[in-house]
Amino acid sequence: MSDCIFCKIANKEIPTQAVYEDDMVIAFNDLEPQAPVHVLVIPKKHIASLLATTAEDKELLAHITCEVIPMLAKKLNIAETGFRTVANTGEEGGQTVQHLHFHLLGGRSMQWPPG
Ligand code: C5P
Repeated sequence: MSDCIFCKIANKEIPTQAVYEDDMVIAFNDLEPQAPVHVLVIPKKHIASLLATTAEDKELLAHITCEVIPMLAKKLNIAETGFRTVANTGEEGGQTVQHLHFHLLGGRSMQWPPG
């Protein structure tokens, strides 16, 4: 999507210091961190949200949740203490960027319920 900010990051049209990258995903620090560790993990493919995923995306989603996020949590030293993974979806879910992304937050004690 030509006007999608996260597609521009994935395509390197906007220079970004990647925390991790492979052929399917890129992870980078959130511009407005809400915790000492706040990384966004996004698919390089444009998918608007979790609601827009299809069976075709199963491998991608498993890669993000089963491999990339646990690997990054260990790499960023938040695996032992714990961390939060969030995928905001839609207006009331708090989604502001319409390209699927997983927040990986850690380095402080989280509260529940979230605001
Ligand atoms: O879940 P939500 O859609 O609100 O999250 C979008 C996130 O993307 C925000 O945390 C915002 O700070 C981040 N962002 C960013 N770089 C941009 C635009 C948004 O890190 N250029």
